[in-house]
Amino acid sequence: MNNYSRLKILIVEDDEDDYILLRELLIEAIGEVDTICWAEDFKSAQVKISNENFDFYFLDNRLGAELGLDLIAEIKQHYETAPPIIMLSGIDDYQTDLDAMEKGADDYLVKSELTPHLLERTFRYSLKSKGFEAKLAKLAHYDGLTGLYNRSLFNELLIKATQQSKRSGKQFALVTLDLDNFKFINDNYGHPAGDQLLTKIARRLKHVTRSSDIVARLGGDEFSLLLKDVKNDSDFVTLVENIMAIFQKPIQISSKSVAVSSSIGIAIYPTDTHIASELIDYSDRAMYQAKSNGRNSYSFYNQELHQKAIIKHQLELELYSAIENNKLLLYFQPIVSLINDEIVSYEALLRWPDGENGFHNTEEFIEVAEESHLILKIGDWVFQHACLKLESWHAQGITDRHISINASANQFNSDDFTELVKKYIQKVPYLANKLTIELTERKPLDITEKTINRLQVLSNLGFKFSVDDFGIGHSSISYLRAFPMNSIKIDKSIVQNIINSKEDLALCTAIIALGKALSLSVIAEGVETKEIANILKSLACPYAQGYLYSKPIPL
Ligand code: C2E
Ligand code: CA
Ligand code: CA
Repeated sequence: MNNYSRLKILIVEDDEDDYILLRELLIEAIGEVDTICWAEDFKSAQVKISNENFDFYFLDNRLGAELGLDLIAEIKQHYETAPPIIMLSGIDDYQTDLDAMEKGADDYLVKSELTPHLLERTFRYSLKSKGFEAKLAKLAHYDGLTGLYNRSLFNELLIKATQQSKRSGKQFALVTLDLDNFKFINDNYGHPAGDQLLTKIARRLKHVTRSSDIVARLGGDEFSLLLKDVKNDSDFVTLVENIMAIFQKPIQISSKSVAVSSSIGIAIYPTDTHIASELIDYSDRAMYQAKSNGRNSYSFYNQELHQKAIIKHQLELELYSAIENNKLLLYFQPIVSLINDEIVSYEALLRWPDGENGFHNTEEFIEVAEESHLILKIGDWVFQHACLKLESWHAQGITDRHISINASANQFNSDDFTELVKKYIQKVPYLANKLTIELTERKPLDITEKTINRLQVLSNLGFKFSVDDFGIGHSSISYLRAFPMNSIKIDKSIVQNIINSKEDLALCTAIIALGKALSLSVIAEGVETKEIANILKSLACPYAQGYLYSKPIPL
């Protein structure tokens, strides 16, 4: 591709032979050009000038009874800075030259003197003098019709994306989108209608994608997108379904409303491949798969991933509706003192009823929620319902019960949770002293100034914090140092092993000693047998929780 190849040029010339000659010389001078339009008389030139924008104009001065010079003003009125306008004349006429300059033409050429070299020079100089170099660069990278990236820039951006992802470890999707019935629309409504359709689709695509995504038109009715910074596979499904949704509404073209659908193929870096050219190939193949599945659908290159992502996406939708329709429940499991077996607190555990099978697996759906924004909604819900429980106990005169709630790291990624909690506590101040927030070590909080501050704010209000699943994570000790913790819960996998494993017994003993040394309460989780409870007692572990005392129950 040459520098000038994306330019649109208009030649106004009433002599067909002269037009053909100029066209040939031009191509010799600057290489193949996407569009060279021809207007064969003054009238059709006027129509073209008012309907379309060109990047370069050649005007023959003698157009039958009219003068090409008179078109200059018509061109100029469409632009703030008009593109180059070159006057052509059959004879070397000094006066016409002067008139042309006066009216604002950029140059004046005598037809008989035209050479490729002269034309190339004229091109270069007049574009430069108009500051059109930036536009040239733009034309080389953008699709003229839709303003989207074109194929050449898209390919560059794709390679860049693979390099970025290699460094960041984040995945991205290459999406190939092909309209299902574009040919029909083009054939039946005409090319201008087809162009309008493509422009509208481009706009809708830009609208549903995020600013970090890349949208390109590769040519014809083929679009490609790069969806970047995607955390998990089910997010791909969400993004692709957003794209599919733009075809649900019919599109208005030249006062008709037409239904358009598309087939979409998705390949994922690096799961499918880490080679850019293969990624293009795979998403193409996936797109053809979608077409053969019966159009208006999408397909992942990796079918297994597709299935998993869809199931997860489905679960996400169901969970969302369960939250909205208040279908979640809190169960409570007592935490008991190993000194006198009395209940000192309850851990609130989330339950999501599942039609026939009882309950969804809590750990599984929490994980799905953690990968989307749903965990924030769930966190708020759990917090508010735990508080309601405490309030209702308070109203009944029961004031010595505590509740522990589980919170995920994501809930502390912004100030939202702490703000919500603060507001709530202002209304019912005694609640703070009754609530412990358990933070799992499995998916630890980032130890940053912000998260430390957020926990400190809640701690100052009276909330307690507990490290959940202690002993199996990586950051146990640094966690205790960074955050204002009050208790440790020894992970059940350690507790349940103290009978058969010397190492786990030693670990358990050490954690209890650590708790004592740092003035932290220690709770052994997953206590199922008397035997284990007795060992824990002999180790002077102060608290326990587990099926031995009670399963989680609705209170
Ligand atoms: P977790 O915080 O470690 O909660 C203890 C889990 O162990 C609970 O599973 C509980 O039912 C189970 N358990 C209690 N005693 C025993 C026992 O003696 N033996 C055995 N085998 N298991 C016992 P559950 O309710 O399925 O919850 C699983 C995890 O889901 C929780 O682990 C917690 O990390 C998470 N989770 C539960 N509710 C919430 C919530 O409201 N928010 C958040 N972010 N996470 C939650
Ligand atoms: Ca817990
Ligand atoms: Ca735990």
